[in-house]
Amino acid sequence: MTPGPTPATAVVAVDGPSGSGKSSVSRGVARALGLRYLDTGAMYRAMTWAALRAGVDLDDVDAIADTADSVRLGWSTDPDESVITVDGVDVSRAIREEAVTSTVSVVAAERRTRDVLVDLQRQAVRDAAASGCGIVVEGRDIGSVVLPDADLKVWLVADPEVRAARRAAEEMSAGRLEPNAYAAPASVVVRTVADELARRDALDAGRAASPTTQAPDAVVVDASDLGLAEVIDRVVALVVDRTTL
Ligand code: C5P
Repeated sequence: MTPGPTPATAVVAVDGPSGSGKSSVSRGVARALGLRYLDTGAMYRAMTWAALRAGVDLDDVDAIADTADSVRLGWSTDPDESVITVDGVDVSRAIREEAVTSTVSVVAAERRTRDVLVDLQRQAVRDAAASGCGIVVEGRDIGSVVLPDADLKVWLVADPEVRAARRAAEEMSAGRLEPNAYAAPASVVVRTVADELARRDALDAGRAASPTTQAPDAVVVDASDLGLAEVIDRVVALVVDRTTL
């Protein structure tokens, strides 16, 4: 008989809208339980970076798909090391720039690109299992499409104002906002970020190919009134509960 999962071999899917804290929570859970970590959003961002580098017309779905077929992505599944490469070039910082953030949803809507990336994502989970490790995989369609048999599926949400305020603070401290934003009142910056999150969420939820979806068996975790450590503790407790007989 195949042994059941333990907290150290658990496969955890974390999905939810933009800015709900998926990356910080997923990394924290992976660290706490000694699991690998896969940021699938970074993979879509890296493909977008590659398409922009190649000068691809983003209205040309075949050209986007050709990019996905021809580039070689590399990534780390160490929760303490967020590195992603395109044909050997480290694009970990470049994929967070505005040029990528504002166009990634167009690339992510292209079905062949998704097929390529979903295969890579499932392979990463198999590789983790082969090395005796579980993994936390975060994205938009992980519980619904990529890993329907995950041991735990989390649907991580937070109020739009909370998500925008947190994302604005992150972008500010990373120096990624346009120069004028630093002189603007905080409320204006947060509103601009809120609009961008809402625009991206609408595209991601409205596309035909694997839209952002809450899996029916996902556990909803609302991070609106919780600190990061509390959300991590809650998800860790859910993993332990699901995988301990
Ligand atoms: O998570 P992050 O905001 O970095 O994701 C960037 C974009 O990648 C999303 O807005 C979405 O368009 C796409 N994405 C996706 N499916 C996933 C993960 C991300 O379509 N599983």
